[in-house]
Amino acid sequence: MKHIIILGDGMADHAVERLGGKTLLQAAHTPYMDLLAREGKTGRLVTVPDGFHPGSEVANTAIMGYDLNKVYEGRGPLEAASIGYEMAPEDMAIRCNIITLQDGKILTHNGGNLSTEDGDVLIKYLDEHLGNENVKFITGIQYRHLLVIKNASKHVVCAPPHDHPGEPWRDLLVKPEEGNFSNDPAEKGRMTPQETADLLNDLIVKSQQLLAEHPYNQAKVAKGERPANSIWPWSGGYRPSMQTLMQLYPQVKTGSVISAVDLIRGIGHYAGLDIIKVPGATGLANTNYEGKTQAAIDALRHQDFVYLHLEATDEAGHDGDLELKMKAIEYLDHRVVEPIYKEVSTWDEPVAIAVLPDHPTPVEIRTHVKEPVPFLFWYKGIKPDSVQTYDEVSCVSGEYGMLRLQEFMDSFMAL
Ligand SMILES: [Zn+2]
Repeated sequence: MKHIIILGDGMADHAVERLGGKTLLQAAHTPYMDLLAREGKTGRLVTVPDGFHPGSEVANTAIMGYDLNKVYEGRGPLEAASIGYEMAPEDMAIRCNIITLQDGKILTHNGGNLSTEDGDVLIKYLDEHLGNENVKFITGIQYRHLLVIKNASKHVVCAPPHDHPGEPWRDLLVKPEEGNFSNDPAEKGRMTPQETADLLNDLIVKSQQLLAEHPYNQAKVAKGERPANSIWPWSGGYRPSMQTLMQLYPQVKTGSVISAVDLIRGIGHYAGLDIIKVPGATGLANTNYEGKTQAAIDALRHQDFVYLHLEATDEAGHDGDLELKMKAIEYLDHRVVEPIYKEVSTWDEPVAIAVLPDHPTPVEIRTHVKEPVPFLFWYKGIKPDSVQTYDEVSCVSGEYGMLRLQEFMDSFMAL
């Protein structure tokens, strides 16, 4: 049995008054997800462990079968993998936004919509002046870059800049995490949390002086536009000690991840999956659905496992755009689920399909919530449960009931 997971990021939602009290999955026209639910088995899944925030990187890691308490290292190491930076054991990799400050406060977390090309210029400039054999600035995408520090401690408390618009940046500087980590073997040979916080704060302050002098920012200021005038590090960690999926599930010999999102690609990298980059994959409703679907089918022909991740539903949820999220759900149904179902139905080798979101991103809340999500399993000849449609309400009656975390992947791989 081969396995494919089709993940609609943030797809689950709440009952919406404008839809007559239905959820978006209930109201949208999704004949193929409903068909798979009718022919298959369903249930609900807790995707976020206690003590964790409902981030996509957390939920997708759990869905892929990993214990977050053992492997979670923050965004930095996942983004390092996505960029192609192979972390050494002594590295601490941390997300490095380039943000906009104004009058001593955080104005935006995105450096005034910094482009990747301009971001690359600024990151190389910072690396030239602040980088050394222990400190390295690495270009990522747009305003989202990476800082890697040898032998730094991950036990520092950073403020995610998107959570603090309008707040004075000095109050948000990096602080050492409370607690004694000196006996932790992972901390051996590393700086203390205080030394790490001091270094990061020093880099923040020096970056502001350097960025203010850079011609890119001087031109921006002259035009009355937003400069990209400070780095902002957050969510750091060490190289994850993740077993590959092949080690966790021996029936998986090879597999691929297909996603426009760097965090998901990073999880896939540490899970030992091939990262397939599809031209025109944007993470939005204008993404190349046909290209991603075809890439998934092609990978499945010669591999055992595919993780196909579609981001558009989450983005529409964050925008609070009900119509767009409905459309993204319907696209997922007829441009992804339908062609994959029709294709694998004709194959001799059986293929199991799972469809689920990682977390709800309700359009009326516009952010992730920590609530169970509905899922379905299908393969040709599976004995169905009584559930007739795929949505948050119907799947409550599913045969699997409520699964938790890795139980999902264990159950899917047991098919
Ligand atoms: Zn997500």
